[in-house]
Amino acid sequence: MRTIGHWIDGQEVAGSGRTADVYNPATGEVQAKLALASREEMDRAIASAGEAQKAWGATNPQRRARVMMEMVRLLNRDMDKLAEALSSEHGKTLPDAKGDVQRGLEVIEFSIGAPHLLKGEFTDGAGPGIDMYSMRQPLGVVACITPFNFPAMIPLWKLGPALASGNAAILKPSERDPTVPMMLAALFKEAGLPDGVLQVMNGDKEAVDALLHSPVIQAVGFVGSTPIAQYIYEEAAKTGKRAQCFGGAKNHMIIMPDADMDQAADALVGAGYGAAGERCMAISVAVPVGEKTADALIERLVPRIEKLKVGPYTAGNDVDYGPVVTKAAQQNILRLVESGIQQGAELVVDGRDFSLQGYEDGFFVGPHLFDRVTRDMDIYKTEIFGPVLSTVRAQSYEEAVSYAMDHEYGNGVAIYTRDGDAARDFASRINVGMVGINVPIPVPLAYHTFGGWKRSGFGDLNQHGPDAFRFYTRTKTVTSRWPSGIKEGGEFHFRAID
Ligand code: NAD
Repeated sequence: MRTIGHWIDGQEVAGSGRTADVYNPATGEVQAKLALASREEMDRAIASAGEAQKAWGATNPQRRARVMMEMVRLLNRDMDKLAEALSSEHGKTLPDAKGDVQRGLEVIEFSIGAPHLLKGEFTDGAGPGIDMYSMRQPLGVVACITPFNFPAMIPLWKLGPALASGNAAILKPSERDPTVPMMLAALFKEAGLPDGVLQVMNGDKEAVDALLHSPVIQAVGFVGSTPIAQYIYEEAAKTGKRAQCFGGAKNHMIIMPDADMDQAADALVGAGYGAAGERCMAISVAVPVGEKTADALIERLVPRIEKLKVGPYTAGNDVDYGPVVTKAAQQNILRLVESGIQQGAELVVDGRDFSLQGYEDGFFVGPHLFDRVTRDMDIYKTEIFGPVLSTVRAQSYEEAVSYAMDHEYGNGVAIYTRDGDAARDFASRINVGMVGINVPIPVPLAYHTFGGWKRSGFGDLNQHGPDAFRFYTRTKTVTSRWPSGIKEGGEFHFRAID
């Protein structure tokens, strides 16, 4: 059986203690044993990163940017290999896996701009003979703790800005799909990153707690579920660390009566069921406005959903989405579907009996569509993170808006309409971080920033874009004055060198 250790000081190192199983979700088989780092292993890797950071932080930004430039080339070179490894542990289709790498790569491209992004500010003549300047300096060693659902993109979102800013980073990826993060570390080395500047430490709560309690770690960037995001934010704050922690989501899409219904239905199927619904920007709630809109929407959704092809990534283009990541996730989704039925929602498309010949032990979940979902139901309140779309019927625009406004999560939201005035009002009032207007998954590009509101995000700076460079640096402001003892009668008199 393949074993996966840690990436320490430029090479893979075997673990020495507990292990976890890494599955192939399409077959349900264990395909590797993953080392889980102990507190002592973490402390050693963190200390070594601290040493390596000194020289890296003193390296000029342009040289650091060149490592990012080379990394872009290597990611493109190895795109197919990375996507294959990613699909085999996550379960998503190969095009989705390539998208995962691509969206991460774009933040590495953005990080090539580090010399410009790190440039300070200067005020000439802030007072008589006084100049003032601000510089951005790296924090030191930072921690990046990432979820299973984007094992290439989210580590790269964090590592690009963190490393290009001159920090060393400890990446603690998800235990579910650790191979791609290990491959990324090897690629960074090949791109010229000095050993020790990036350590990939596999592990669970013990490894995370070691990061949170280490006095060497200066900042924690986290992405995952809301309860863990909140825990990490609170623990990091206790020891004075900077933290940005992004959590779960329940993204609504409002469909106005004037929307193009076919376009809206196509968008909902892609955004609701793509990647088996395991995207933090997936649409999981459709809110049609008016009974006629709701009926027209459901009529269009049902045949589209029934046509979805579910299968292993190895089936290539014949598959729309793959299995969910673990047996526990599969069971949790099916449990929530049962709760929806019991609490009175109407199950319009029932995927409970889904089974795939030859893959009976895989973690597949058929597509589900609920209608007449209400606020009090568990399927409405909870992030299901599976191929389950809930329809909530609103009688007015204001009622529809109130659903998205009142929900505890505020990651993404969308509106489908032909009315520019309604769209503008919506974008301005809605208390959600990322808004789509006739765009179902409004993920900002690398040079804007990504982040949710309410319980989808803890901390005050977003991921990628200029915010990421602010998060991974601190500002120092220098006020300087040069006494003019050497200046007499308007002339400079320089002391001769003896
Ligand atoms: P998760 O919270 O289970 O795990 C995330 C990370 O936290 C992993 O590295 C894991 O090892 C670690 N972890 C888990 N339990 C822990 C504990 N008790 N103490 C300390 N660390 C712990 O999340 P997941 O299931 O891997 O990912 C799915 C979640 O991530 C969803 O809720 C999804 O919405 C969210 N997500 C959010 C965004 C965003 O930008 N807001 C992006 C992607 C995913």
